[in-house]
Amino acid sequence: MDAQELTQAAKAAGADVFGVADIERFDELAPEAHPRTIFPETRSVVVVGRRIPRGALRGVEEGTNFTNYALYGADWLDNRFTSLTTIQVAERLEDHGWEAVPLPNLPPEVPSMGVAVRPGAVAPNVLLAADDAAVRAGLGEIGTVGVLLTPEFGPRQRIQIILTDAEIEPTPLVTEPIWPPGKTCEGFCPLGAIGPVSERVICGKTMPVAAIDHAKCRRCKNGASPNRHHPAGKPDRLAAVCVRSCIDVLEREGRIGNTFALAFRQREPWTLTPDFDPYRV
Ligand code: SF4
Repeated sequence: MDAQELTQAAKAAGADVFGVADIERFDELAPEAHPRTIFPETRSVVVVGRRIPRGALRGVEEGTNFTNYALYGADWLDNRFTSLTTIQVAERLEDHGWEAVPLPNLPPEVPSMGVAVRPGAVAPNVLLAADDAAVRAGLGEIGTVGVLLTPEFGPRQRIQIILTDAEIEPTPLVTEPIWPPGKTCEGFCPLGAIGPVSERVICGKTMPVAAIDHAKCRRCKNGASPNRHHPAGKPDRLAAVCVRSCIDVLEREGRIGNTFALAFRQREPWTLTPDFDPYRV
């Protein structure tokens, strides 16, 4: 199965974002974070995802409805719609005789279960960092605000992973910056959880990424929500005012492909902080 056939299969299964990394792009990772610890014969890592509809964020941006995002932007989108896309792509690979390991986007911070099943093996539970894998698979970059950005949707997607022993032509890494170079996101957080920017390097790609105080994000009521899968996982910030402000900047500066007739931000964004201005810096 070549890259073109797989891309077509992914689109037919509803994928909005898609990419492939060869396993060599993961060489720098420790066994505890490496795809081959899960499936030793892995030759390619496929990342698929579906967009978060911009309208799923509307109720949070206006401060009037949170359930819509919780379902169509998070729980259902991830655990139902994107899961269906993932399993269909995995099935197409297995139709061609290649084993395909579908992996949900579970938080890699979940502690291991402590006992290796075989002498010398890595103790379970091995989980991959999906945003990291997405950069290696050519989907985009880790933006300055600390979440995956793609050229089409910015931070608006849910992604999952498939490991396979099929050798598939890898997708080139995204080389052009998506977040405007030199632009800060420091003011985007009313709780002061966004810290200094430092360089993060994934597979030779260097990205300026701000330090995020996730302890503050866990207490954030400005659109963030606890990790749906495990309390040790990072909170979901994709609807928080920091990431909503990121969407607004990306759209206004023409940095992403999925465009709309009207601007995302029509008035002051909703937060619990009176007179909060995300662009004050
Ligand atoms: S999730 Fe909340 S606390 Fe964390 S950076 Fe975003 S706005 Fe700030």
